Amino acid sequence: MSDLPCLIADVMLGSLAKWLRILGFDTLYFRTIEDSELVRTAKQQQRVLLTRDTGIARRKGLGSLILIASDDTFQQVKEVLAALNARSLKVILPGQSRCAECNGELHFVDKKSVADDVPEHVFLALNSFFRCGNCGKVYWDGSHKQHIDEKIRKIIEETHWAISESD
Ligand SMILES: [Zn+2]
Repeated sequence: MSDLPCLIADVMLGSLAKWLRILGFDTLYFRTIEDSELVRTAKQQQRVLLTRDTGIARRKGLGSLILIASDDTFQQVKEVLAALNARSLKVILPGQSRCAECNGELHFVDKKSVADDVPEHVFLALNSFFRCGNCGKVYWDGSHKQHIDEKIRKIIEETHWAISESD
């Protein structure tokens, strides 16, 4: 199980939310939600609220909040990682992703069960598949995943987090 903090992103931060899910953070995101509802959900579920909206940041009665400054998604990811505890990194690295689309948990599934859900060349080439327990989307360790991992590694390096190779 993950002991990463749970997050909730405001309506302006949809792509940031996807990346944080890939990194393994339980991240709620709604395309449309009233500010008051956003703040209430964050507090009720003890989620760190991510927002670009200084109006939200000035509200009374907020719980934990990270005010995002950058327009750029990768800079935003770095801002979030820098604001959170660096020790979270060890939990992220084994690749305990969540579904980028819906924030569901991914489960390792039997190869046969995904035969109809993935391209044939992928099915023939790979053996490890994961399915979202919520929306059913199938993920696998392919070239796309490697590309993502490299980007994530770069983000982490730029955040000055030492990647421990010994443990
Ligand atoms: Zn899903």
